Amino acid sequence: MPKVKKASKSVIKLVKGMKDILPNEQVYWELIRNKVSAAARDYGFQYIDTPVVEATALFKRAVGEETDAVSKEMYSFVDQGGEKLSLRPENTAGVVRAYIEHGMLNLPQPVKLFYFAPQFRHDKPQAGRYRQFWQFGFEVLGENDPIVDAQMISLSYFILQELGLNVEVQVNSIGDDNCRPKYMKTLVNYYKDNKKDLCPDCQKRLLHNPLRLLDCKVKKCQDLAKDAPQTVDHLCDECNKHFTSVLEYLDELDVKYNLNSKIVRGLDYYTRTAWEIVETSEEGKLNALGGGGRYDDLVYLMGGRQTPAIGFACGVERIINKMKDVKAPLPENWRPDVYVATLGPEARKKALHLLLELRKENVSVSEDLAKTGLKGQLESADKKGARFALILGQKEIVDGTVLIRDMENGVQEVVDIKKAVKEVQKRLEHHLIAKVLKKSK
Ligand code: AMP
Repeated sequence: MPKVKKASKSVIKLVKGMKDILPNEQVYWELIRNKVSAAARDYGFQYIDTPVVEATALFKRAVGEETDAVSKEMYSFVDQGGEKLSLRPENTAGVVRAYIEHGMLNLPQPVKLFYFAPQFRHDKPQAGRYRQFWQFGFEVLGENDPIVDAQMISLSYFILQELGLNVEVQVNSIGDDNCRPKYMKTLVNYYKDNKKDLCPDCQKRLLHNPLRLLDCKVKKCQDLAKDAPQTVDHLCDECNKHFTSVLEYLDELDVKYNLNSKIVRGLDYYTRTAWEIVETSEEGKLNALGGGGRYDDLVYLMGGRQTPAIGFACGVERIINKMKDVKAPLPENWRPDVYVATLGPEARKKALHLLLELRKENVSVSEDLAKTGLKGQLESADKKGARFALILGQKEIVDGTVLIRDMENGVQEVVDIKKAVKEVQKRLEHHLIAKVLKKSK
């Protein structure tokens, strides 16, 4: 063994608000990815990747300069070429940019896209809130039928439910260009006399983003919001009809939902239907795992032609935290079909080939070739849950054979090494049939 140097330098640590996703957590990530991909396939969504870095102007225009996500939390910088760039705080703006830039407006509509990607917000780090966090999201562009709203709401709801979470939907309509300006005036009027009782952020919001007064988390603002005029009472006929249809469709589905006039969503681009998927904590607090809404004006605002659209995004880390809390069921750990164990230098060389051959035949394998003791290797095979072990010792090398050991009952047989893969496949088939028969009894 070469001499090991003692540590003498300071350790560079993880950046505040960031999170390593270690191997022991990957089972959750894989499960969520698979669930999301399966849902996307069933509902006809195609996967899209957009860059982490976009022009700062994109988010200013799409998300809104006055939103917290853009004004306070965006990671923005000027690059070496003098371009003003930002790490994306959300993914809808990038998807809409790509939709316009790649002429997806000319494809048969609607265009249905989904993503699974990291987002960046310089938020105050705390439990369930990170500065890099992952979202999966679904977007439908080019369709304004309320049945799509109900499908999107139910999609977000059922994915989380299938992950073992007891969630419900909080839904609202925030109107459109036609009725919202009038409603905003009524809202600002309501708050005018109480301006001094609002938190400093809400005093600013009153000027630039009054809808956000309704979902402020500060207690005194929440108290004032209780009696504030509600968007649903100020919808124009078209918005009202749309929202009523969404609710009718939701009634058709088995979705648990509540009308909640405080759901206004943080970003500027939303119109009409807005919703959040929440779970209720033990103290009765609503904890948002995801949210979405219609954004019928965003494509136009971004330079495309008027195109109705709707989307939602869910936070993966928050979902995982909740899955851990409720001990949501996880898939069985992966088990290798075959573990290859060796004794002696010649056997190790032979094992290298054997492992390749097995993999080529889609037999899943495992090994610890750097380990020399047979006992330790068989213990490892057991720990990994291997169904069979192939054991190659000096005698087997001389005879051109290999031992197949059934790891369940310890029975061992000698077979010709040239037939080893076929023999393993035969046994795996028997094993599978026996398992199916046992299940069907
Ligand atoms: P939003 O884009 O703000 O509507 O967020 C949608 C979902 O993303 C939320 O419901 C959270 O689950 C998740 N999320 C938002 N911000 C963060 C954050 N800073 N850290 C972790 N998850 C987040």
